[in-house]
Amino acid sequence: MKKEKAVVVFSGGQDSTTCLFWAKQQFGEVETITFDYGQRHKLEIECAKEIARELGVANTVLDMSLLNQLAPNALTRTDINITQEEGQLPSTFVDGRNLLFLSFAGVFAKQKGARHLVTGVCETDFSGYPDCRDAFVKSLNVTLNLSMDYPFVIHTPLMWLDKAQTWKLADELGAFTYIREKTLTCYNGIKGDGCGECPACHLRKAGLDKYLSEKTQSGANV
Ligand code: ZN
Repeated sequence: MKKEKAVVVFSGGQDSTTCLFWAKQQFGEVETITFDYGQRHKLEIECAKEIARELGVANTVLDMSLLNQLAPNALTRTDINITQEEGQLPSTFVDGRNLLFLSFAGVFAKQKGARHLVTGVCETDFSGYPDCRDAFVKSLNVTLNLSMDYPFVIHTPLMWLDKAQTWKLADELGAFTYIREKTLTCYNGIKGDGCGECPACHLRKAGLDKYLSEKTQSGANV
């Protein structure tokens, strides 16, 4: 796939930055697309722009404010708390988000002559988001191909990885320190290791600690 072109759905977070490093290794040419849907933290978009610039890839920010108009949610509205009740979708779930993002990314990619789409969705750690599941992505891939009569391939390098394995992949790509310091995952808008309090920080830290302890153990066994 070295001669082909890919578009990475890019938020500036740990997962999509790992995907960006992965795509840079896999494809001859890589572009990124970032969606502005009125995130609580504008810093997320600034962070994505900065990373794209530093890694030498084009970045396009698309206005997706209609998503917030359609489905107000805890990621965009400060008056909605981030909560997760047992047996329910968390308040951070946004109806239709990945459906719309990947569809728009497909339209964008075709205009750019790219048929490969890369997204950091993951079923393993998924918080119950239905549009992060493999079956959904495969189904949408077929739909996109039919809708535009174009041979899209949606790549999901993180689909079956847990957070520790995502850190491992980042390390294998030579991007561990960069991703640890430069990406933004925290719901409170703090880069790198984040606020340490929100669900996103807890998930990220648990994966990081697990990976680092596994690495130390395997190092000790050599
Ligand atoms: Zn946080």
